[in-house]
Amino acid sequence: MKVLKFGGSSVSNSENCKRVQEIIKRDYANCKQVVVVSAFGGVTDELERCINLASDRNKEYENSLFKVKERHFQVINELNLPAEIEFGTSKKFDEIAELLQGVYLLEEISQKVKNSVMGSGEILSSLIFSAYLNQCGMNTVLFDSRDFIKTQNGKGVFLNSEQTNKNLEAVKNVEFQVALFPGFIASGQKGEMTLLGRGGSDYTASILAAGLKCSELEIWTDVSGMFTADPRLVSQAQPIEQMSFQEAMELSHFGAKVIYPPTLIPVLQNKINVRIKNTFAPDEKGTLITSAPKSERSIVRGLSSINNINLFTLSGSGMVGISGFASRFFTCLAQNKINVVLITQASSEQSMSVGINEGDRALAIEAVRSEFEMEIRMNLVNEPAVEQDLSIVAVVGEDMGYTPGISGKVFSVLGRNGVNIRAMAQGGNELNITFMVPTFDVKKVLNVIHEDFFISTHKKVNLYIAGVGNVGGKLLEFMKNQYDYLLEEKGLQLIVRAVTNSRKMYFAKDENMLQDWKQKLEEESEVANLQEFVKRMDQANLRNSVFVDITASESVSKVYQQVLNSTVSIVACNKIAASSEFDNYLRIKAAAKKHNVEFMFESNVGAGLPVISTINSLIHTGDKIVGIDAVVSGSLNFIMNEFNNGKSFVEAVKMAMEQGFTEPDPKIDLSGMDVLRKLLILSREAGYKLEVKDVEHEPMIPLSCLNGETAADLIRDLEAHNDHFEAWRTVMAEKNIRYRYIASFADGKANVSLKEVTPDHPFYDIHGKDNVISLKTKWYNDQPLIIKGAGAGAEVTASGIFGDIIRITSN
Ligand code: ADP
Ligand code: ASP
Ligand code: MG
Repeated sequence: MKVLKFGGSSVSNSENCKRVQEIIKRDYANCKQVVVVSAFGGVTDELERCINLASDRNKEYENSLFKVKERHFQVINELNLPAEIEFGTSKKFDEIAELLQGVYLLEEISQKVKNSVMGSGEILSSLIFSAYLNQCGMNTVLFDSRDFIKTQNGKGVFLNSEQTNKNLEAVKNVEFQVALFPGFIASGQKGEMTLLGRGGSDYTASILAAGLKCSELEIWTDVSGMFTADPRLVSQAQPIEQMSFQEAMELSHFGAKVIYPPTLIPVLQNKINVRIKNTFAPDEKGTLITSAPKSERSIVRGLSSINNINLFTLSGSGMVGISGFASRFFTCLAQNKINVVLITQASSEQSMSVGINEGDRALAIEAVRSEFEMEIRMNLVNEPAVEQDLSIVAVVGEDMGYTPGISGKVFSVLGRNGVNIRAMAQGGNELNITFMVPTFDVKKVLNVIHEDFFISTHKKVNLYIAGVGNVGGKLLEFMKNQYDYLLEEKGLQLIVRAVTNSRKMYFAKDENMLQDWKQKLEEESEVANLQEFVKRMDQANLRNSVFVDITASESVSKVYQQVLNSTVSIVACNKIAASSEFDNYLRIKAAAKKHNVEFMFESNVGAGLPVISTINSLIHTGDKIVGIDAVVSGSLNFIMNEFNNGKSFVEAVKMAMEQGFTEPDPKIDLSGMDVLRKLLILSREAGYKLEVKDVEHEPMIPLSCLNGETAADLIRDLEAHNDHFEAWRTVMAEKNIRYRYIASFADGKANVSLKEVTPDHPFYDIHGKDNVISLKTKWYNDQPLIIKGAGAGAEVTASGIFGDIIRITSN
């Protein structure tokens, strides 16, 4: 004999009743089945609402009850059930209406009336469903659970298992193939209706399985098993194939609603396996809960969470070293039937914190105040402190025991995502790690832990992109091309959540706009608003978020602090922040550190060349940068190379502009300002405190060419100075040298100017838009470390940005 329990969603309408009947039919001939049904989906909630409305003297309850009645009659009609069922159902609704009218008149709800009304849903569903099974030719007997399942008094529900099991003996004498029991309802010592707690039909089924010594309990619901996390919160959650009773107990206790926690006790005591199955996909395996489950690949079995938790803290100097405080505290909570969900005590003994349900807050404050009244008056104990809007998250798995590093991994991933842990506890059996976090962060917490611990899942990377011009466009194209590879090989899913340029912005509703960002920005965008962009990114509170700045805009660089404060990393191609005042550069770096996120700007110097990452790794491994010589303007090199090949200077500048190798304002290149900024960034990364004013700087072109407003002015002025540039050509030929615009740093001094280089110098032969960075360090002293390669152009710059994104997110 086995027990099958069908939850509310499984019996929510006539079509679902037919599905359930099909499931029962599968084993009809092979074994006797005990079937437990919940009320039709949502009916218990509706009945509770009706009572509350009635007690508030709101006549709307009549209308609500009428709708519930209509739903039942619709099922009866659609299933073509006999008139006596209509009659029985009608009678039950009359009874409910009478009870509710009493509540309405008295403006008061007794526990007894409340139970009678709320438990009616199961009485109705079992009446209807048993008639349907009989009509389908199944030998079905309807039992009344209240005749068998006995509870004792108490705030929670305490089963009188001895009496219950004795009562159930009688069932064995009845001839049936299907025994149908309403879930949820039971009776007290005086025969009055009691309820087993919300979600209690699972418990009914387990009590029956134990009392009737059944071989297995099947819980049929609307999901294919107990998932690694609540599938409504974690889209990548997977059904867990097998788990132990203890693991199931922990997960359900901490919020995995799919099974009501007390359910596991009777089956555990009687070693009855539990299977959680999906009524809507009956052939899927579901989850097996058993004493010796096989190990899964992941060390963590599952995650769960409960909302509406308060952190209740008792503290005070009078608690130190004095025994009995804890026991008085907990006794007082227990006497007031306040459920303590989590306990922590700091080793100083100065404070003790517990997690309680929001609903118990007022009572807990009152009870603890009165218990410690004297100590509070004497200032030995402080007024109880309560923090609201918290949730508890539990990370559960038997294999976690004796495996070092699990909690470290959990907490470090939360740190990286800016989640503040308010309290934590780890069971002595290491079966679970539980902690309290702001409810606002719960979804993010579950998802990041899930991504880190479950092999089959991938990490979602949420990108917010500012600047989608030449380089931005290339970056998005690269990401599109690499999307499948990164997902399959690296487990990284790139999701573009929003894009903006200086005119328009588009925020994805729930989709990934990587494929069609252009069209979205074109057709569905709103007017760009940077503050709004950052605000919405903050409100989305998504894990692994990265703000990508591919602009050259000062106003964008001004929002970095705000972005980092929202625990969002920054990848910047924009050089303004890293080359702004030293204090600002430090502040931004400090904000990133404080919020455990990254601020990366590799593409600031040498586009995609690994310059900053090389400097960082040299320093991390104990080296010291003593000198830098660099040709870091791809645009200036291009111009000089074209000039060396015989083009006039102005023609070379025009070519660089046309091919997109210059900054949007080419004066930034030709003035040497861009090179100066790069040198500032390199030397700062090398550990030196340098400001713009500390850099000796000579523009590459005569100052008078830099006075114009527009690019056309510049070209005109350069043409006017053609002789000046042609004179270079003569000198170069005479001296057998080349001119290079070089950034150097040595002995604490920085200089940016046009210099002569001889043929044996590493900067003599530089092709196209190549950059060369020569680093003289403690270890690379005689022979500097040289990094050389293409240092400008949309592709290489985009690849530098892409590299930063991947480096951040593969941590
Ligand atoms: P029933 O009406 O069948 O008793 P419930 O609504 O009580 O069903 O429980 C099933 C629901 O539990 C699922 O639809 C799912 O949304 C939720 N749930 C929460 N956590 C989990 C989890 N870890 N695994 C599966 N379902 C979960
Ligand atoms: N109908 C009850 C409830 O909604 C019991 C159950 O569904 O398990 O809580
Ligand atoms: Mg349930």
